[in-house]
Amino acid sequence: MKRRVAFLVALVVVGAVVVWIRLRGTTPSLSDADSSQVVEWSGATMGGTWSVKIPHAMADEEKLHKRVADELARLDSLLSLWHEDSEVSRFNRPKGVEWISVSKDLAEIVSVARQVSEETGGAFDITIAPLVNLWGFGPAQSGGRNGVVSAEAEIAAARARVGWRGVEARVSPPALRKARAEIAIDLGAIGKGYAADAVARILDSAGVKDYLIAIGGELRGHGHSASGAAWKVGVETPVADVQRVLLSVELKEQGISTSGDYRNFFEMGGVRYCHEIDPRTGWPIAAARGLAGVSVIHSSSVRADALATGFFVLGAEEGFKKAEEMGIAALFVTRGQGKFEMKMTKEFAGPVKR
Ligand code: AMP
Ligand code: MG
Repeated sequence: MKRRVAFLVALVVVGAVVVWIRLRGTTPSLSDADSSQVVEWSGATMGGTWSVKIPHAMADEEKLHKRVADELARLDSLLSLWHEDSEVSRFNRPKGVEWISVSKDLAEIVSVARQVSEETGGAFDITIAPLVNLWGFGPAQSGGRNGVVSAEAEIAAARARVGWRGVEARVSPPALRKARAEIAIDLGAIGKGYAADAVARILDSAGVKDYLIAIGGELRGHGHSASGAAWKVGVETPVADVQRVLLSVELKEQGISTSGDYRNFFEMGGVRYCHEIDPRTGWPIAAARGLAGVSVIHSSSVRADALATGFFVLGAEEGFKKAEEMGIAALFVTRGQGKFEMKMTKEFAGPVKR
C-alpha cells in the first residue's frame, strides 16, 4: 500500500515537472507575459511559418509588422524553389558560365555557403539540388521515392553535377557564376537562417531591443522575454510527431538551428533515410547511423543553419570533432540503448539552462 502511494506521488511529481518544462518550453514560451502587452506577428514563408514576439507594447507596431512581412515575402520570392520564377529557380535553369547579376541577398548566401562548404570539407553543399530531386525531396515531390532506391547509375549521374566549387559568388557588385551550365542550387539548409538574420536587422534598425524570431525551426533571441530574463527556448527531443523538450537554452543575440533525421524522412528496403544528403556518397543519411540531430547556437543565424546541416552530414564523430576544432557551440544527439545521448562542445554548455 505504502509503495503504491509512493509510486502515485512520484507519478504526479514527474507529471508536474514535464508540464513545467513544457510551459518554459520549445515553442518560445510567453506564459509569464501580460498578453495584452505582447506583440506577436506570424505568417507563412519558405514552405513553413514564421513568427516574431516582442514582450512589450510599441509605437508604430503595424508599420514594423509590415516591413518584416514584406521582407520575408521578398526573400521567399528570391530564394524559394517552390516558386518557378524565384531568383534561384531562374538561376538553376541551364545557362552559360559567365557572371550573372543577382540580388545582394543571393550573392551573400552563396558566399556564406561556400565558406561553410570549405569548413566542413564539402559535407555542406548547396549544389546538392540534383541529388535532392533524385531522392524525391525536391519541391512538388512528396519526400522519398515511394520506397524505390535510386539506381547507382542515376546516383552517379546526379553526383557528377554536384560540387560546391561549381558556383562562385561575387558580393560587389552582386553576381554568381556557374562552372558548368547544368549546376543547380538548393538553399533549403541555409535560407531560413539568412531570413532570421534579415528580420533581426530590421528590428535592430527600428530600435527594438527585445524580440524572439522563429523562421520554421530557426530561432533567434535578442534582449529579454517578458519575464525579464534572456529568451529561453527548447531543443526538441528528436522524435517524429512528438513535441517534447530535451533541454532548454538561453539565446543572447544568437540563433539556434537544428538539423535532424526525425521530421522529413522515408523508408526504403526497411531502412529509414532523411532529407539531408551526403554529397560525398550521393546517398541520403540513414537513421541507422545513430545520429538523430545536431543543434548549433551562433551569433549569425545563417551560419548556425548551414553548420548544423554540415555537422549532421559529417556524422557524430567527424562532425563533433570539426565543431570542437572550430569552437562552435554544438549539441549532438544520438540514439543510445533505449534513450537519447547528448554530447555537446564546451561552447554549447554555457547557454544550457536545465
Ligand atoms: P536542414 O534542415 O537545414 O538541415 O536542411 C535540409 C535541406 O537542405 C534538405 O531538404 C535539402 O533541401 C538541403 N540539403 C540536403 N543535403 C544537403 C547538404 N549536404 N548540404 C546542403 N544542403 C542540403
Ligand atoms: Mg540547415
